[in-house]
This record gives sequence, C-alpha cells and structure tokens, in this order.
Amino acid sequence: MLRHSISALALVALAIVAAPMSAQQPRALKVFISVDMEGLAGVVSGVEVSANGPDYGHFRAIMAGETNAAVEGAFRAGATEVLVRDSHGDKRNLLPADVDPRARLLRGASSGPKNMMEGIDSTFGAVVFIGYHAKAGTPGAILEHTSTGNVVDFTINGVSLPEGGYNALTAGLYGVPVVFAAGDRALVEQLRGLLGPIGAVAVKEEIGDASLGMSPKRAQDEIRAGVERAIRSRAKARVYKLSPPYTMVLKVKQERALYAGALKVRDGEVTFASPDLLAVLAAFNAMK
Ligand SMILES: [Zn+2]
Repeated sequence: MLRHSISALALVALAIVAAPMSAQQPRALKVFISVDMEGLAGVVSGVEVSANGPDYGHFRAIMAGETNAAVEGAFRAGATEVLVRDSHGDKRNLLPADVDPRARLLRGASSGPKNMMEGIDSTFGAVVFIGYHAKAGTPGAILEHTSTGNVVDFTINGVSLPEGGYNALTAGLYGVPVVFAAGDRALVEQLRGLLGPIGAVAVKEEIGDASLGMSPKRAQDEIRAGVERAIRSRAKARVYKLSPPYTMVLKVKQERALYAGALKVRDGEVTFASPDLLAVLAAFNAMK
C-alpha cells in the first residue's frame, strides 16, 4: 500500500515536471506594437494627423487598419499576447472599438520617460513600429521630426537618434529586439542603418515634398505578411544597446528651462549624462 502511494506520488511529480515541456503547451510570446501616424500610408501633411484636421477621421481609420494588420501578423506568427501603444500626439488617436479585440490597447499620455514605449518590459519577445517617421533634418523624408518640432538633433553617446532609435534603446534595456518597422522609405533606411536588417515596409516615399505611395489596403497586406515573417525569425534579430553611461546632447530651436543635472553647452545645446537610460530620456522629455 505504502509502496503504491509512493509510486503514484512519483508519477504525479514527474507529470508536474514534464508539463512545461509538453508540445501542447504554447510558449508565451508577447508582442509590443507602437503606432505613430506620420508614417501611415498616404499621410503627407501634419493637418491630416491633427485632431482638428478635416480628414483626421479618415487617417485615424487607416491607423487602425495598419495596427490591426500588424496585430494579425503577430498572432499568425504565434503571439499569445499583443499590446498596442498609441504613440502619436496625445496618444488618443486609436479608438478602442476599432482595435482587434485580441490586443490590449494602451492609450493616453504617460508621465514616465518611456512615452511611446510605455508598457514595455522584459516579458515581451518582440517590438513592432507602425506609422513611424524619420528624424528631424532627414533629407527626402515625409513629415520628418524628432518628438516635437523643437528638436534639431538628439544624440546619445554620439549616435544621432530618431524616435525609432531611442525607442529601440528603451526596448533593448529589457532585452527586447525591434523586428519590424513601417513608414516612409527614409524611415526604413534610417532604422536599418541603426538596428540592422529588420523587417520593414516602405509604404510611401517623398518626391518633391509630396508623397508617392501604396494604397492603405496594399500597405496593410504587406504589413500583415511582413510582421508575421519578422516575428517568426525573431531569433536572428539584434537587441539594440549602447554602452552605459549614457551621455545625451540635445540641440533645440527654442531652449527650455535647464533640467536638474543638465549642462548648457552653448545657445540651443544642452547635455546630460547618467548610467540610467530612463533618466536620460526624462531629461530629454523635459527639455525637448
Ligand atoms: Zn506622431
């Protein structure tokens, strides 16, 4: 009797140990999707992505379309959870009911330094950027800027960064690679230059300050397929990191009040250093 109980117990113990190895158990895969608007298919003017613009509703629907294409691609690639971060302006562009119900939506401005990456942590396996744009001063780009219209250039450890660059660094802090980006051709080239050969779709390109691009439907088809491919091959993706301590140099058109610990280099140029990337981003957010 005692012998039987012991062997039954041993079987139970074996089953508990074996459970996570079972092929039936899907491996958790969380995907983080940050969605801006300037790099969406067809967008060529700031008015189109401003809440008071007459066509804002139209481009808002295109934002939801590209978002849902990325969400679908992520689930086809085996995602078990998807978080969508609305990353444009006041972060209240995606209407909750328009987003694929399998995803969770993080909307509204955040007080923390992660901003467009609010919600990222080490439980995620891959990051996707949709509707992204090139940094301030990029030639041949559509609606290029860095965070605000006030930033001329933002570098960390000598590397000039677009929004997609410092957002990739934020993800890298948690060991998460950026695997895919959609935006104009200049955005795609700029991010590949920084992050390596990530998956990407150039939904449009600049021609004489105008935009030549795909129809939203075509862009969504390519995003869906591209995100699926990129997430399936995420093992090859590189986690983007710079070596701490982090020294930022921020050049602006209009100087803001000097942030605690920041130093003025010359008119319109400040610097701030810290071993903590999020502290540097907080300084950037305060003075940008
Ligand atoms: Zn934006």
